[in-house]
Amino acid sequence: MALLSIIVPSYNEEANIVNTAGRLTQVLTDADIPFEIVFVSDGSRDRTFDRVQELAAQDERICGIEFSRNFGKEAAIFAGLKQAKGNCCVVMDCDLQHPPQVIPEMYRLWQQGYDVVEGVKSDRGKESGLHRMFANLFYGIMSRLMKIDMKDTSDFKLLDRKVMDVLLGLTERNTFFRALTFWAGFSSVSVSYEVGERAFGTSKWSFRGLIRYAVSNTTSFTTAPLQLVTLAGGIFIAAAFVLGIQTLFNYFTHSAVEGFTTVILLILIVGGLLMISMGVIGHYIARIYEEVKGRPRYIIAKDTAKEKALHEKERE
Ligand code: UDP
Ligand code: MG
Repeated sequence: MALLSIIVPSYNEEANIVNTAGRLTQVLTDADIPFEIVFVSDGSRDRTFDRVQELAAQDERICGIEFSRNFGKEAAIFAGLKQAKGNCCVVMDCDLQHPPQVIPEMYRLWQQGYDVVEGVKSDRGKESGLHRMFANLFYGIMSRLMKIDMKDTSDFKLLDRKVMDVLLGLTERNTFFRALTFWAGFSSVSVSYEVGERAFGTSKWSFRGLIRYAVSNTTSFTTAPLQLVTLAGGIFIAAAFVLGIQTLFNYFTHSAVEGFTTVILLILIVGGLLMISMGVIGHYIARIYEEVKGRPRYIIAKDTAKEKALHEKERE
């Protein structure tokens, strides 16, 4: 039967590794699905990778890598895709907020011929009101810009080997995994799931982190903000035309002087818009600069498979 790789990006998840691996093993064994679990420790500062090593030593089906530092969840997902040997893979969080019991259903749909099975949140779990508001706003705008319905989508999905290879073949470094599967196309179907509560530990996202994530994903996926700059410029030229006519009219009818308010407002508004626009353009240039440098997306410091091979050699 076809092998399923479970990819688990993990950052400071020492409390979750054993529990998550146990739950996965149980669910997948019950469903009679051949699997491997690939833990990608994203430069964890706790004993996450030690836990992975212990498990890998006991169980052939479990393996993992450790980054040299924290490279972010996107990089961890892509490293997992690279490591995975399966005919298909499922990406899921380490904290069991993506319920393992949904995986067999995803696998069955894959067997029926679907290349992508999207996990869709049926509710967003216990998130604070503010968090939910921002998430809604972000995904609302993103969906509009990308012409993809992104609401309630997540990183919890199953991908066929074909799709994995397409994603691995992308040369860009700043990726947005959640949207890329839509971009890639292929036959897809969605499965809804209830977001569980984090099993152990705390969420790794700060408010600043979320803003950075939103900005980075928008700019890595769409150039719409650049076009908005042009649009804003157009609107201002039109307004300037009307105001210009009015000013000239005042001048010729000798009723000028008045209108300092207009001048101050215009300087403030136009100055602000110019600065924002330059910021937007600067952001994209920074992006281009990063891509041009061509640095690797992540650096692997440790690999359970390699360490195992070394041990075996020493024993001989
Ligand atoms: N994660 C990661 N690198 C990071 C931050 C998070 O690999 O820099 C992993 C984390 O270990 C977890 C998943 O991404 O498996 C989701 O993170 P978290 O649960 O903190 O996010 P939330 O569920 O609160 O959105
Ligand atoms: Mg979580």
